Amino acid sequence: MAEKSSEKKSSCAQKNRKTAPKKKKKYDVSFYHDWCKACGICMAFCPQKIIEADKNGKPVISEKDKCVGCRFCEIHCPDFAITVSDRKLHRRRNDV
Ligand code: SF4
Ligand code: SF4
Repeated sequence: MAEKSSEKKSSCAQKNRKTAPKKKKKYDVSFYHDWCKACGICMAFCPQKIIEADKNGKPVISEKDKCVGCRFCEIHCPDFAITVSDRKLHRRRNDV
């Protein structure tokens, strides 16, 4: 009986053991301003509210690390002027 309860405790402890925090994925958002007609749809749809208008009303990202990669902006842009991509690490040739 005592053995069973200690087994239970150890399995609970395993479940509650803290795991290393996952690294948050990051994304890059590019705008092709030549194709953009400054309609503002991407700004309205972004759930993070990180797309702002520049002085010409064209979109710019205010805090790029806050992008969650949902691609709402890319999907809803009527002029295909947005590309969202996974951010990749760029290393210099001599880096180890
Ligand atoms: S949705 Fe497309 S066309 Fe409209 S402002 Fe954004 S990038 Fe420009
Ligand atoms: S991918 Fe999503 S969070 Fe990132 S800028 Fe576009 S709408 Fe905003």
